[in-house]
Amino acid sequence: MSQVASRNRGRPVRQVRLGLPRDRYVQVRRPGPDRAPADIDKLMGPDRTRAFMRRKEREITDKAEVESILSGALVCRIGLADGGEPYVVPVCFGYGDGTMYLHSAHEGKKIDMLKKNPRCCFEVDTCEGTIPSKRPCNWEMRYRSVIGFGNATIVEDVEEKKKGMNCILRHYSGTTYDFSDEEIKSVCVVRVDISEMTGKKFGS
Ligand SMILES: Cc1cc2nc3c(=O)[nH]c(=O)nc-3n(C[C@H](O)[C@H](O)[C@H](O)COP(=O)(O)OP(=O)(O)OC[C@H]3O[C@@H](n4cnc5c(N)ncnc54)[C@H](O)[C@@H]3O)c2cc1C
Repeated sequence: MSQVASRNRGRPVRQVRLGLPRDRYVQVRRPGPDRAPADIDKLMGPDRTRAFMRRKEREITDKAEVESILSGALVCRIGLADGGEPYVVPVCFGYGDGTMYLHSAHEGKKIDMLKKNPRCCFEVDTCEGTIPSKRPCNWEMRYRSVIGFGNATIVEDVEEKKKGMNCILRHYSGTTYDFSDEEIKSVCVVRVDISEMTGKKFGS
């Protein structure tokens, strides 16, 4: 069960949001979509186009730790670009094996933008509070975060949409659900194939 799922155990937050009947949930063991695993070492390796991190001592190089941030974060901020105008939008997500799934209404600004330019950037974090200091300039934030880049694809295949929705559901509830084709039609599922990502932390 993911950290988010474990933290939210007993809180029917997602059931209220999705309006799903409890008896169609199935408890599952492991988060992640049923796709071929991406090579995480490669995503985090030296071939990244954005390999340089200024504060090297803060970089997380352990892929398991990066994946634990991804499985523990509540919100993903997706950055999109369309011409000269950037757009950052917070969304729920599911992650597994180098792939991220998001869900959305079929219409709206983010869907319009990613149809025009599927290249995206994302950020997730587990912000753990401030580290106070007597001097204002010395205050720090205790955090662990991941920034990644990838290509977003609107998933059309019904079976993959169900997998994507269950990837998100597992992230928050540790369960899967037997989505009907009708339910799946009403939602837009976006797959982000991650091409590279970095982890960074301070104070934790
Ligand atoms: C914690 C969290 C989790 C969320 N999870 C999801 C999710 O899983 N799927 C999903 O589709 N949406 C989710 N939302 C809502 C999401 O942030 C967007 O509001 C929504 O997806 C509509 O985006 P859009 O680009 O279609 O906006 P549109 O309806 O097309 O509106 C575009 C304009 O509305 C404004 N706007 C849009 N969203 C926001 C916002 N969140 N806050 C302030 N102004 C905004 C912007 O100025 C933007 O230019 C979540 C929001 C939060 C805060």
